[in-house]
Amino acid sequence: MAHFWLKKLALSVLAVLILLMLAVRVVNAGDAGPKVIIIEFHGLKRGIIKNNLEELPHFQELINGSQNKQSYVYLPEVFTTIPGGSVPDITSMYTGLYPGRTGVVSTIWFDRSTARIHTLISYFQQRINRILESRGVKTLFDYVGEAGKHSMTSMLMVNKGADWSLKSGAFFWGNASSLGFLRNGRWFPDSHYIDDRTLSAFLTGHVLSYSKSLSGVLQYRHMIPDVMVVELLGTDLFSHFPTRDLVKQNASIDDVQKYYAKNVLDPLIGRLISFLKEAGCYNDIIFFLVSDHGFTRINKHIRDDTVNGSLRGQFKLPGLETDNRQADAVIMPGACTKEIYLKNRQTRNWMDPPGLLADVKPAVDLLLVNADIQDCMNTMVIRQYPGERYNGLEENDQWWVFDWRTYQTDVKDDAAFLRALQPLSMLEKSFELKEYVVQGLRKQYTKETAPDIKLINKEGFYFERDFDKYGHHGSYYPDDSIVSFWVAGPGLARILPGRHLLDSPASILDLVPMVTYLLGIPLPEGLDGENPLVSIQVKPAEFGAAAPADVGCCMQYHTTTN
Ligand SMILES: [Zn+2]
Repeated sequence: MAHFWLKKLALSVLAVLILLMLAVRVVNAGDAGPKVIIIEFHGLKRGIIKNNLEELPHFQELINGSQNKQSYVYLPEVFTTIPGGSVPDITSMYTGLYPGRTGVVSTIWFDRSTARIHTLISYFQQRINRILESRGVKTLFDYVGEAGKHSMTSMLMVNKGADWSLKSGAFFWGNASSLGFLRNGRWFPDSHYIDDRTLSAFLTGHVLSYSKSLSGVLQYRHMIPDVMVVELLGTDLFSHFPTRDLVKQNASIDDVQKYYAKNVLDPLIGRLISFLKEAGCYNDIIFFLVSDHGFTRINKHIRDDTVNGSLRGQFKLPGLETDNRQADAVIMPGACTKEIYLKNRQTRNWMDPPGLLADVKPAVDLLLVNADIQDCMNTMVIRQYPGERYNGLEENDQWWVFDWRTYQTDVKDDAAFLRALQPLSMLEKSFELKEYVVQGLRKQYTKETAPDIKLINKEGFYFERDFDKYGHHGSYYPDDSIVSFWVAGPGLARILPGRHLLDSPASILDLVPMVTYLLGIPLPEGLDGENPLVSIQVKPAEFGAAAPADVGCCMQYHTTTN
């Protein structure tokens, strides 16, 4: 009898415990740890926030705190994947993998195995997610979900694994373009409208769906997602086509972006802070202020069809009567580069390497007689096919640098062509970013997506259809390829107190390792990115202590620059 009662008591104690635990979990659902909000300022150049912070009061509050005592980590030099194109960059940023591993290798590319062109240009497609799905590539949101946590995204093209994703529709872009036409006389989305509505959508679902907005999730699910991403596209749009006034003033891209940060982004940050304070969660938030690529003022526009014009005489290009499979060469529109895919004209199979002397040399010769190409080109690289092609030359890397300037002065016979094929390391002579450019090229493509000839333009020279375009990106130069990250917000001090400047180069590939680290999720295996935050040594004495008030005397961790 006593035994029975003991058992019953034990059971009810257990039940009460379970109930208690559940109650605690429900109460704590909102603050089981820090909440991360990633604000991606698409196309924001390195240092724009830092250099103009005094004129950006709301950024100042978010980073320094209203008492100027908040902790933060500043990463002034964060490398994008190469080249800095929106689509491959954001895919790499939210997967922690190089484009060659995500399969999203460019904004537009040719797939030799299917002879089809892949384009991911439009903002409301699912194609990136489908490619990641088919290749079994995980995103930040997959890792967050596997750890039992929740995530939401707003306007982000990469959202595989996210619990709630707000996406735009044709209506949204239609409105944005009409407004752009009214305000700026051009059928191009109005950047202010885009960013304003994106933030509204994130907070309350305006125009888009309420239940997937932060308000909706708070109301229906009584929780705040652990990771929230808001992609603000406006900086990119505005830098491509600034207002007429800025163009008239001959403004630098730094001036253009400063103008946008002051007049559009800063007020939006103010709205975000007020909303989160009202929702009672501001103090738990760690903000990541990130960017996927930088920007360059266009010095010279080169007609986008220049390369097509050069090859058309001797290579059959896709056209009204020729499909890709029948064509001899396929040329992809680029920004700072042109990718030329060549078919082996003997076997007529796109997956066979083209003959080095039979197919590649004739194409190179045609390109080099074009004065426009000579004028805009910095470097030409040529694809290697190790173990697949035996043209009397050893192939053991992915690319050669073609020494086209020496070749121009040579007799241009087969021997001269082979002599001009130099090791890829020669790129370091032509690019300030040296090894980074070499590695970037090696990590960009898959076997099916690699072109045979790649032209890389001089700085500020862009292939373009619209000669009114003011700024561009996607080059191999620092303005496009280096951005800055901030990790800040009131929630950071509990994990990383103090103010830290990490001035050794980091990568956009490091975002996933950094976010998972702050959320206490084990580092996902096999990523190309690393976690630069582990280099910050927090001394126990500093825990809970207010951070030094003056930026000048902040703790700085200068790891070795490589
Ligand atoms: Zn862009």
